Amino acid sequence: MKKIAVFCGSSLGFNEIYRNDAIELGSYFAENNIGLVYGGGKIGMMGILADTMLNKNGKVIGVIPGLLRHEEVAHNSITEMIVTKTMSKRKVKISKLVDGYIALPGGFGTLDEIFEALTLNQLGIEQKPIGILNTNGFFNPLIEQLNLMVKEGYLKQSNKEMLLVSESVKDLFLKMYNYKAPDLSKVINKIVK
Ligand code: AMP
Repeated sequence: MKKIAVFCGSSLGFNEIYRNDAIELGSYFAENNIGLVYGGGKIGMMGILADTMLNKNGKVIGVIPGLLRHEEVAHNSITEMIVTKTMSKRKVKISKLVDGYIALPGGFGTLDEIFEALTLNQLGIEQKPIGILNTNGFFNPLIEQLNLMVKEGYLKQSNKEMLLVSESVKDLFLKMYNYKAPDLSKVINKIVK
């Protein structure tokens, strides 16, 4: 995997344990020569992640909509900044650049982005590994919700399993490297027809 998108909070969160995730993940990327593609911000978890990588000479590509760039939240010393017209164009651009996705703790924006990636994979439009770093059980209630969706017949177990979950960066990468996308040719045929 050459480039991975990381979605994470534009806030720092109250518990330091989460910002350590951003530091640990950024270090892993830099040490393993993986390029970071992210929202381009300098604030919150995003800023810590980008700064960690830049301090270790890692490659950081930000993709930011013009609207947010002028909010003075854009990071101005990353390797490359791509400015898009809209939020939705940003997501498309990010998806074209990366080989996989990871979410760290965050809020609405983070969930929106990771679920868009899951939806693209569920439809077979993409076949990329998607992981969440579940430090301190941050995502446990979300996983419970997904289990309920399976139980109530709104989500296939096989699609739920597209979301790779781990509490450790190394283990998450192992799962991502070993990920095999399910054969969705039937789904794609249905959509095309
Ligand atoms: P949230 O989880 O609601 O804090 O939103 C964070 C996610 O949404 C990030 O992964 C970004 O791609 C995007 N985002 C939200 N706020 C900003 C911002 N101020 N600057 C850049 N990206 C942002």
